[in-house]
Amino acid sequence: MKLVHTISEVREAIAEACAAGKTIGLVPTMGALHEGHITLVRNARQDNGFVGVSIFVNPTQFAPTEDLAKYPRTLEEDAEKCREAGVDVVFAPNAQEMYPEGFDCWVDVGGVTPMLEGQFRPTHFRGVATVCLKLFNVFQPDLAYFGRKDYQQLCVIRKMVRDLNLPLEIVPVDIVRESDGLAMSSRNRYLSAEEHKAALCLSQSLNDAKAAFESGERSAMTIQHVVKHRLDAEPLAAIDYAVVVDAETLLPLETIARPAVVLLAVRIGATRLIDNLILTP
Ligand code: AMP
Repeated sequence: MKLVHTISEVREAIAEACAAGKTIGLVPTMGALHEGHITLVRNARQDNGFVGVSIFVNPTQFAPTEDLAKYPRTLEEDAEKCREAGVDVVFAPNAQEMYPEGFDCWVDVGGVTPMLEGQFRPTHFRGVATVCLKLFNVFQPDLAYFGRKDYQQLCVIRKMVRDLNLPLEIVPVDIVRESDGLAMSSRNRYLSAEEHKAALCLSQSLNDAKAAFESGERSAMTIQHVVKHRLDAEPLAAIDYAVVVDAETLLPLETIARPAVVLLAVRIGATRLIDNLILTP
């Protein structure tokens, strides 16, 4: 495995892989890798002759008030995990490599960005879409792997690929959870033991939603109430949003007659966590 820091080194490795007739799989990440990320890598490894992982804490997707400075950076351990998982190239650029002096070009995806995360983090998806397009241009992957954990992000990236005719396929990967149900996240390491326990209200509320749905409940509002009831019972939890929306448009819906998604953003102390559940009638 190669650990590289420049775009030209990636291009060199990609040219070699293409000359050898290999398909390219890309897993974009911000590092502090856990089993969720590694599951994306394993999927990429199965499907492709060449697997690239990018590790870049992308400053343009953080607001000035957010956790950019304290976001965990564990490059050595990350590289070791990638090596064990059979990655070919890890690309860990610095901010200067991705955003050199004078950089001023942005991807604004419409439709699925203004609501939910977009409302709480107004510049977030512009940063995400821009860095992902840049990474797609650097790696020119056949397949790029994204977790369903960041459900709205997945919608944004799929829309960008569709609307801009990008020549790659987005492969969604299911949420990987701790044995207690907490969705794995690099931010989980901010949680104290007490907060970790409190954070279980997210997955528990989704389990409640699932149970209601499976017993025949089809009212989005009723399922939303079930979810909020569980979250409200946890004193350490503060809800940013907890909604049931159309799984494709992310717009509110009344009756779940087509795929819907329960989307949660909840603050546990100073840590903001997201989770979700797809409901398919
Ligand atoms: P991040 O490093 O948080 O930007 O995440 C990089 C990629 O890993 C994104 O596509 C995430 O959706 C995905 N990911 C993060 N956590 C999980 C998880 N628990 N299960 C599945 N995918 C995940």
